Amino acid sequence: MSVAENFYRIRKELPADVKIVAAVKTRSAEEARAVIEAGLTDIGHNYVQEAEAMFEPLADLKEKVKWHMIGNLQKNKINKALKIFDVIQTVDSLKNAQDIQSRALAMDKKVEVLLEINAGEESSKAGLAPEIKKLESIITDFKNFSHLKLVGIMTMGPFWGDPEALRPFFRATKTIYDQVKQIDAENVDLKTLSMGMSDSFKVAVEEGSNMVRLGTILFGQREYH
Ligand SMILES: *Cc1c(COP(=O)(O)O)cnc(C)c1O
Repeated sequence: MSVAENFYRIRKELPADVKIVAAVKTRSAEEARAVIEAGLTDIGHNYVQEAEAMFEPLADLKEKVKWHMIGNLQKNKINKALKIFDVIQTVDSLKNAQDIQSRALAMDKKVEVLLEINAGEESSKAGLAPEIKKLESIITDFKNFSHLKLVGIMTMGPFWGDPEALRPFFRATKTIYDQVKQIDAENVDLKTLSMGMSDSFKVAVEEGSNMVRLGTILFGQREYH
């Protein structure tokens, strides 16, 4: 099946209000182009440098797509990232938000961000602990971030073979999302819950996700290098 056919099939399976972000790490610009031309509107990349290399050849499609940073963003890459990405899904500390704000301010660019939650509380993974009080405090602090707009919550969940095993983590993240959505704070407008990947997106959507990040199921197996 072609990338376009895969996209049409999954698009049909999902409720209309669930957004698909194509996770394009290790893919070519041609593969990304194929899925954009099939109608996909959101591209996610994990690496700033590789995203830069892909951004140029896809410049003619700029009006049709939103670019999402879905990997960890190192401080020294923020300036470059802000030139490419419309959304940074992986804000994982107040300090990280401050760093992005100061550079966005200097560039006079507004950027949408999501807070990444470490739902499995794994020491090996980035993200904020799923503790409601701390999250509320960080979200309220967004009043100081004139050039950020906090639009959602993102989680990876643990990498376990069985997607059913992820269900409790997705459910817990949805509960957090519902709670923090009640917060009325400046520069905050929570409406996106980004969770679910190729093997887990159905479970994630059942548990309330409205944004899935898909690589393998669109493009085929990745070759790791
Ligand atoms: C690679 C990646 C995905 C997509 O993974 P697949 O299993 O290939 O669908 C989603 N989210 C993030 C953050 C990723 O790095």
